[in-house]
Order: sequence, then C-alpha cells, then structure tokens
Amino acid sequence: MTAELVCFERACRRRFPITEVIYECPSCGGLLEVEYPELHLDAGRLKRLWRERRTENAPIDRSGVWRYRELIPFLEDYGSVVTLGEGNTPLLDAPKAAEYAGLERLTFKHQGFNPTGSFKDNGMTCGVAQALRLGMRRVACVSTGNTSASMTAYAAAAGLEPIIFIPHGNISFGKLAQALEYGARTLQVEANFDEILALVRSLAGELGIYLLNSVNPFRIEGQKSIVIEMMDQRDWRAPDWIALPGGNLGNTAAFGKALRELSEHGFLEKMPRLAVIQAEGAAPFYEYMREEGRGGFRPVAHPETLATAIRIGDPVSWPKAAFEVRSSRGVVEKVSEQEIADAKAVIGRCGIGCEPASAATLAGIRKLRQAGVIAPDEDVVGVLTGHLLKDPDYVYRYHTGQLVTPAGVPVRGAFENRPVVVAKDPRRIAEILLAETLS
Ligand SMILES: *Cc1c(COP(=O)(O)O)cnc(C)c1O
Repeated sequence: MTAELVCFERACRRRFPITEVIYECPSCGGLLEVEYPELHLDAGRLKRLWRERRTENAPIDRSGVWRYRELIPFLEDYGSVVTLGEGNTPLLDAPKAAEYAGLERLTFKHQGFNPTGSFKDNGMTCGVAQALRLGMRRVACVSTGNTSASMTAYAAAAGLEPIIFIPHGNISFGKLAQALEYGARTLQVEANFDEILALVRSLAGELGIYLLNSVNPFRIEGQKSIVIEMMDQRDWRAPDWIALPGGNLGNTAAFGKALRELSEHGFLEKMPRLAVIQAEGAAPFYEYMREEGRGGFRPVAHPETLATAIRIGDPVSWPKAAFEVRSSRGVVEKVSEQEIADAKAVIGRCGIGCEPASAATLAGIRKLRQAGVIAPDEDVVGVLTGHLLKDPDYVYRYHTGQLVTPAGVPVRGAFENRPVVVAKDPRRIAEILLAETLS
C-alpha cells in the first residue's frame, strides 16, 4: 500500500514521501494532503467487514477510527497505534431541536462522546501514531483548548512528551484542566492563537518537536472517520446535509475529503452537502465564500466569540475548506452570539447538551432553514463537536442571566433556567412547583 504527501495547491501538486517531516509544501507553502494513489477498495466487502469489527474486542477494531483503516492506510503496520477508544460516538435523534430549526427531523452526530470530549480525538490518534512512526519524542500544538486536551491525552498514553501553547486568558477551565491532568508542559503565551501558531511553527525544527496542529494532514485523515462512521450508522444512506461549525476549518477539510473518497470508491449513492457555520465575530471564511473568493482571503485581526473553539481569525485550512465546500455544493453561514446561546440551550433540553461552538451547528441549520436554503423535509445531520461540560461557566451564566458577549452586549437567556433559592418551608416549595413549569 502506498501513501504520499501531496501539496494541496492545484498549480503545484508536488509529492513527498509519507515519512517526510513537513507541515507545508517547501516549494509553494501550500497545505499538505495524504493521498493513496493505488487504493482499490471493494465497498460491499468493507461495509460488512467494518460492521463485523464492531463486535470484536481487539482495541484497533473497537476504535471508531482504526476500524475504518482501509480508508486511512498511511501506516505500514498498526503496532504503534495508541487508541483510547475514540469515535464510536452516537447519532442522536433530537425532535425538539428539529422543531426549533423548522425541520421535520434532525439527528446529531455527537463527537463530545469521545474520550476527551471532542472530535479532536478522532484525528489525534492518527497524528500521534504518525509521531511514533517518525520516532519523535515530543509533540506540541497551539490550541484554544480541545486540541491540547486531546493531544496531551494521546501523547501521555503513547509515552511522548506533550507541550502545549495556549493564548493567555482565553481558554475554558474544563479544557485546561484536562491538559494539566494528563501532564502537558503548558505555556500560556501573551498573544492570540494565530500569533502563537506562527511562533511555534518557526521553533518546531530547532526544538525537535512534532507539530500536531490542524495543519497536520494525519489528523485530517483521522477526522474523516467521523463521516465514515456516521454513514455506517445510517446503513450507508447519505443525508442531504451535514452541518458543522468552522474554526480553523480542519474538520471541514476532513469531511469533504471523506465524502470525495467514499464517493470515489463506490460507498455513496449521493453526495451530501456541507453546511459550515461560523460565529459572527470570527467569520472570515463566511465572508470569503459570500464574495465567491473575489476579494481574496482576508483574516479577521481580532476574532471575538464566546464560542472559544471557533474563535479563529486566520484559519489555516481555508483553501482546503473552500475546495470541499464547493465540491459538495455546500454553503457557509454565520450566526450571532445570541443565536448560538439559544441553540445551545435547546440542544440541552433535548437531553443532549454540547459546548458553545457545537451549538453554532443548530443555530446555522435554523438560519439556513429560514432562508429557504434547507427545505423542511430534508435529511440533516448536525455535528456536535464538543461536550457540554467543556465550558460550564458559560452554561451557568446563560441560565442565570449573566452571559455577556465580548462586545459587552448581554445575552438574553430565552431558555433561561435559574436555580431558585428557597427557605425550608414545604408550603412555599409546593407553591413554587405548582406555579411554574419550564417552558
Ligand atoms: C476544534 C473545534 C471546532 C473547530 O473545528 P475546526 O476544525 O478548527 O474548524 C469546533 N468545535 C469544537 C468543540 C472544537 O473543539
């Protein structure tokens, strides 16, 4: 089996050995992609094999990433794979969210059920496998939170030294707590995400560290499994739409690549359309696609959103994401802080819950439904990217009327759920519980 690194730029397409330690094309600076030039797959046989592996006890077969290894065959042997049981995330029916969005039905693929609580685990198991294969001892990333939590867990499990760089003062405690507990050497740098990423990229060679940011093409390979597993769970019936939040746009790149490869190898009868949702205060990709690329890509210098996982002004994977959105006849939408907050509370009321960035998915689906882009009877899968408990502070503030946007605007808790303080008085308690029900 051959796998190669290929420059993503259509005008360049330079090829490199799969074991070359590079993060961008040395010729043109383009993004890199893993390609399998000689891959021939029997879709019918693999669908059956993948289904059988679900009942096996071997960790590599139980993993919701490595189970699908025939579609991510960049390793020569699987002895170095470290799995924490990633993937295997549920598809959940969400009638209340469907009603809120104006759809007949809506299902969520909840990546928050991963071992560290976000979809980053799907990619990280692959990134760390590649680090081990290359003989690296240290791995590093710059992260708004979930990437560092995930990388640290996998590095710890693999016996590698994890180093994380985080923007000073801009991280939710749930995520930082994970990285500290899993043993990351943690540097809080007084700069924003984009500035720190540039800094670390320039230092990686000198310090002998393998970079596991989302530019890392092996993480993208792992994240393809989110779409593959979702299709497997739907018995290979493609939805009309797959909606997801867009930050650095690695996941958009991964979803598009998965769909193209599945289609190429005969797994899909139709191509779902991607709907990528950004937060209003961090929406350079939305603007770029709205102008159909005419104005060039203009980063947002000071990205602002309470959904910190998508607070990215200069998303590294935008060229791939633009290609994938166009290939799938997809769309890009942006949503406000109020829309994200309310959508998040609605997802909570489904008994599901998610972190703020994930809720952009439902807010965006609703907006696209209202604009007539998505029809009421279309089959939509919304991807929830992270777990509710990643950012409990946000939740508490929303429900107690204390949530304020970065611009200083109070968020009105339309689905507010305030705890009630009450004296030790049975009559008073009965009165309260008889008088009020949550809408
Ligand atoms: C990383 C992350 C995102 C953004 O994904 P990109 O691939 O950077 O677009 C969205 N939601 C959560 C919870 C994340 O951790």
